Amino acid sequence: MESVKDLDPDIYALVKQEERRQAEKIRMIASENYVSQAVLQTTGSVLTNKYSEGYAGKRYYEGQQIIDQVELIAIQRAKDLFGAEHVNVQPYSGSPANIATYLAFLNPGDTILGMALPHGGHLTHGAHVSISGRYFDAQSYELDSATGLLNYDSIREKALAVRPKILIAGHSAYPRILDFPRFREIADEVGALLMVDMAHFAGLVAGGVHPSPIPYADVVTTTTHKSLRGPRGAMILCKEKYAQAIDKAVFPGVQGGPHDNTTAAIAVALKEANSDSFRQYAAQVVKNAKTLANALMAKGFTLITNGTDNHLMLVDLTNKDISGKKAAKALDKAGIVINYNAIPFDKRKPFDPSGIRMGTPALTSRGFKEQEMLVVSDFIGEVIADPENEGHLLRIAKDVKALCRNFPAPGLEHIQ
Ligand SMILES: *Cc1c(COP(=O)(O)O)cnc(C)c1O
Repeated sequence: MESVKDLDPDIYALVKQEERRQAEKIRMIASENYVSQAVLQTTGSVLTNKYSEGYAGKRYYEGQQIIDQVELIAIQRAKDLFGAEHVNVQPYSGSPANIATYLAFLNPGDTILGMALPHGGHLTHGAHVSISGRYFDAQSYELDSATGLLNYDSIREKALAVRPKILIAGHSAYPRILDFPRFREIADEVGALLMVDMAHFAGLVAGGVHPSPIPYADVVTTTTHKSLRGPRGAMILCKEKYAQAIDKAVFPGVQGGPHDNTTAAIAVALKEANSDSFRQYAAQVVKNAKTLANALMAKGFTLITNGTDNHLMLVDLTNKDISGKKAAKALDKAGIVINYNAIPFDKRKPFDPSGIRMGTPALTSRGFKEQEMLVVSDFIGEVIADPENEGHLLRIAKDVKALCRNFPAPGLEHIQ
């Protein structure tokens, strides 16, 4: 970073501060992670200088001798890792990947059916503030009010009633495994395409600790930067018969030139993900989440669905007499970074809801195991018990920092 330091000391200082923040805090935002040094270096490589609109062998600019090879390697690794027939590695991020999928199959006004945003769905699954809700007839299914679980009978009823062209499975805040065969059945019954958005749990699928949607879905979209631990980007994996529609929708439908530095870093991350150490990582992510969930419940916390099968958990703080936002701010002061989150059928407003969401992908990347999860649950319990005691929060932040020092985060080993 010496050249940045010379040219732009302001940004240099901020990058250094962010490095320190990431090194010294317990990062539990369920969508975040630490990429490896190899992924960081590839992201920062000269591949950022290239333009390569089009696809390997069919580009609109010359000089693609190297880039074509990079993109073909990324595609092949994604196919091998996930067992997909066709892969597009060009989407800039998860949201554009979803929009491209809609462009491939829908006309404006067509019906889509996805999980409601306040129940754990993503903005791009039809929220009214999103293009997905503005340009399409966006219908949604909700969780069961008694169990907090998906109710497949009611999803089927809704699908029969609204007859979507695309049925969307996938979420940003659901702590349980999805029943892909059941989603397939429902899609077939109503003649819909099944799109699975595995943005959050792609790393668990890659690591073999979560069922794969690939055999069931027509199209699978995913980010590459969450549990999969790659650079910020996305992929669309689909059946061969949809290959052309998907590729045309990504480029020129939604995007211009792909970010070749990101494509290369995705390739590196996919190589890492196809290894025993990543499979152990994915298994540990789930073990850590289960351990933390159980420890929190033992302390009297209410977890939506009473636990977790994946990398995340949703805590309903209603019985603790603290709002999600207040809890999130207090935890941040204590060095534990999470986000406030709506719970299903939340009685509070989305900007200050009743819950918090926590995930284990990032802290597992720095080597936390079950024992550390018990310590983390103690920290969380202490913060929520006394959220306005600043001195206490700062003391916990010191303990957090000391714990983190024993577990250097990938890419940040140099921070002392
Ligand atoms: C994070 C996420 C996305 C969008 O990803 P961005 O890269 O932030 O655009 C899409 N779908 C789901 C389910 C997600 O969790």
